[in-house]
Amino acid sequence: MRDSFGRSVTYLRVSVTDRCDFRCVYCMAEEMTFLPRANLLSLEEMERLCTAFINLGTRKIRITGGEPLVRRGVMTLFDGLGARIGTGLDELTLTTNASQLARHAEALRAAGVRRVNVSLDTLDPQLFTRLTRRGRIERVLEGIFAARAAGLAVKINTVALKDVNEDTIGDLLTWCGRFGFDLCLIEAMPLGETGADRIDQYVPLSLVQARLNRHWTLTESAYRTGGPARYYNVAETGQRIGFITPMTHNFCESCNRVRLTCTGTLFLCLGQEDSVDLRQVLRDGASDAELAAAIEAAIARKPKGHDFVVDRPHAAPALGRHMSVTGG
Ligand code: SAM
Ligand code: SF4
Repeated sequence: MRDSFGRSVTYLRVSVTDRCDFRCVYCMAEEMTFLPRANLLSLEEMERLCTAFINLGTRKIRITGGEPLVRRGVMTLFDGLGARIGTGLDELTLTTNASQLARHAEALRAAGVRRVNVSLDTLDPQLFTRLTRRGRIERVLEGIFAARAAGLAVKINTVALKDVNEDTIGDLLTWCGRFGFDLCLIEAMPLGETGADRIDQYVPLSLVQARLNRHWTLTESAYRTGGPARYYNVAETGQRIGFITPMTHNFCESCNRVRLTCTGTLFLCLGQEDSVDLRQVLRDGASDAELAAAIEAAIARKPKGHDFVVDRPHAAPALGRHMSVTGG
């Protein structure tokens, strides 16, 4: 599938639920109203949509959320999609907060998953609970090590937050090096109302990187995962560190992805409103050919790029929807 700017769209991210057992301060408000369950696609509907994407050339699917592992029965979706690895699909992956990962790690590996991204913003137990507003780090660490024991490669994703976890990123780098995990830092994006001031949270990664350079030897790497991260080798640990900088760099030129929400809305860009309601297409009884045509028409409308702006005069979110809706 090619969009109107000639970009090949081969990567689908699927949010299987907007619900989560955490309430991370940059992602959600303390009091969240989640979607009524009736609005959600069934797992069978999700699998049919994913299958249509695979048949149209999607090579990689990432399951995300909300917290994907809180969706009841989600392993059936992993099993169904995992069966397409090698017959259309190259890779099936997961982004998770790891709170439920310990009990699912083996089954994920059996379904064909080989890599998981785990969000972890600090190793400090108190700060972790404060940032997630309710999480317990012990369970997350248990999940991470269960994944490692099951043979899954783990990448740690960390949102850099001004004056909050900035100082603890070196500790994360050391810890990741010790256990063989790559680390990827992300700039906080203004998505959804969280009750917090976005400008207060935002720190450019160029600043974080400059500070890391004082103690670590980072050399640019040619390594790419097909995503927007720029990677560096960390000489002291032998692992990599990635930087995702949506706020300070335009990372849209090579964008290869679209995002499906748990209600079947296809968002063509993380930072724009352009979307297509595929649930309606499904529930109108579309044939496989009609569904494929609807997806291709949507891809043709993929916008050129996002317009997040760092120094907006007010601190309201750039978009009303939360990351947990679109799938981070
Ligand atoms: N619950 C899972 C998790 O936390 O990994 C998956 C969904 S979460 C929305 C996916 C990723 O989005 C996480 O790494 C999270 O840190 C990131 N994220 C959420 N809100 C964000 C924001 N406003 N800016 C930048 N990253 C954000
Ligand atoms: Fe939940 Fe992930 Fe959002 Fe944190 S970042 S509130 S774990 S969806």
